[in-house]
Amino acid sequence: MALMDHTLESALNDFERLAALEKTDLLDTPPEEAFDRLTRLASKVIGAPVSLVSLVDDKRQFFKSSVGLDEPWATSQEMPLSYSFCKNAVHSRADLIVEDAREHPLVKDLRSVDELGLIAYAGIPLIDDDGQALGSFCVIDTKPRVWTDREIEILRELAALVMTEIQLRLRVVGLQEIDRMRSELIAVMSHDLRNPLTTILGSANLLIRRAEQLTEAQSTSLLEAIRDQGYRMLQMTEDLLARSKADTEEGQMRRIPVDIAAVLKRVAASFKLSGRSNPIDVDTPESAVIEGDEGMVEQILTNLVDNACKYSAPESPVTIRLRDEGSAYRVEVSDRGIGIPEGVVSTIFEPFQQVNESRDIADGVGLGLHIVSKFVGLHGGEVEVSSRVDEGSTFTVRLPKDL
Ligand code: ADP
Repeated sequence: MALMDHTLESALNDFERLAALEKTDLLDTPPEEAFDRLTRLASKVIGAPVSLVSLVDDKRQFFKSSVGLDEPWATSQEMPLSYSFCKNAVHSRADLIVEDAREHPLVKDLRSVDELGLIAYAGIPLIDDDGQALGSFCVIDTKPRVWTDREIEILRELAALVMTEIQLRLRVVGLQEIDRMRSELIAVMSHDLRNPLTTILGSANLLIRRAEQLTEAQSTSLLEAIRDQGYRMLQMTEDLLARSKADTEEGQMRRIPVDIAAVLKRVAASFKLSGRSNPIDVDTPESAVIEGDEGMVEQILTNLVDNACKYSAPESPVTIRLRDEGSAYRVEVSDRGIGIPEGVVSTIFEPFQQVNESRDIADGVGLGLHIVSKFVGLHGGEVEVSSRVDEGSTFTVRLPKDL
């Protein structure tokens, strides 16, 4: 590490670069033919004894593929950074061409020069679509060597092929994730949307076929069931729509002044009309303006209040408090409902996660809190929950005033 200057160290430690590297899912994986073919080809065509696909993290270089390395490096597939030429290509994000390492200021002190006799190096940085340098594709010789333009050109083409391979894998993973979400969505829709629909159709049929035999109270209760289940389906559909909106890039969200106090009062009023009987107590200053997307703020508050009502007894009170915290506003939505077992609190913000017992309440699809955390995140805020089983839950959202 003594060899590393400060800017090199901070480039290697860069959080986004390391995250991009992690996302490739290639670190600490065995060699694969797709990459080995390219290192073999580089060594053969360029006539260099060593060729590497080297991924550089903050502590070592990992060889996804290597030709011509001695043991233990060939088997361990990694080397400390004190040996690494490639880290310099990652840092400069430019080709690193070295004819004689013993005379090159950047690499003359590397342990690989002295100990392994690696003398000439030509490396091309591996840069992903987002501009992150992941490592390098390189050839190395054990004697001084002038690399020709043609050899460097071949190396660049092969490095581009390595990157194509990495990007294609990333795309496949992305598509698999979309596919998984889609199957989950279909399963959820067929299960959770069918239930209220069955009630609606059953009640409507009774009202049509048995109208004369029903008392007024019975008819009213069937109509109420239709309204309540219709409302729930609407809520679920909105969750599903909001879920696709949740993938909105930050740049696409609106940034206008939003009065959270006004949105809160509107949300509370609409709950009173929706057939929910929980008393809702709203404690808020006159106005509370942040910069953000009004639709998203409304969705955040609606989902939290909806859950507070849904997971408590019909007459159990729900409290909403809004407080000014200086640079942010804090909103607390509290209920005295069923609570959330400690062991599952960390999962409830993930899509389609529902605590077993609450599935029976069956008027959600398990997306509400996922949407809340996505939208709060897009506003640069945070959401947390404190809860006790059978006593109730408080969800706290902090939204910064300025985005
Ligand atoms: P759902 O559509 O199931 O309500 P959410 O994403 O909104 O989905 O919530 C995920 C799970 O978290 C719920 O299924 C429920 O188990 C739990 N949960 C959310 N809010 C509360 C609350 N206020 N009280 C108790 N449990 C809650």
